[in-house]
Amino acid sequence: MITKAIEKAFRRREEKQWEKTYWAIDLHETVIEPNWKVGSIPRNFYPMAKESLQMISMRPDIVTIMYTCSNPHEIKQYQEFFESHEIRFDYVNENPEVTNSGFGFYDHKPYFNVLFEDKAGFDAEEDWKDVYEYLISQEYKKDLFK
Ligand SMILES: [Mg+2]
Repeated sequence: MITKAIEKAFRRREEKQWEKTYWAIDLHETVIEPNWKVGSIPRNFYPMAKESLQMISMRPDIVTIMYTCSNPHEIKQYQEFFESHEIRFDYVNENPEVTNSGFGFYDHKPYFNVLFEDKAGFDAEEDWKDVYEYLISQEYKKDLFK
């Protein structure tokens, strides 16, 4: 359950007094339905994916990382597409805010606290609803205004 990972990230943030958490988000079969066409990016969001990502984008304490194997020219199109829906991705396939240290080596795997990825069990048809509900829940508000 993705909300478990989100709760864990927020709990850890509180314990460690972090300013923010980092959320890596895959695109195909996670945020948008693939169209399997070369030359035109797919634009259909899964249910509640757009609404959830808009809420995530409004939170200054969440850094978003687009985690995708899209080609560079497609990434540019995706960035424009998401911007037009008021969805912010701070980075693509990297997290320059967390660099190598005694805690970890991030040259090949970017640091993140939450991973949205269909290949790791995220169910794009169902799970965005949970994310959305979680984000608007009382706990979220409490967390936001702390
Ligand atoms: Mg995928």
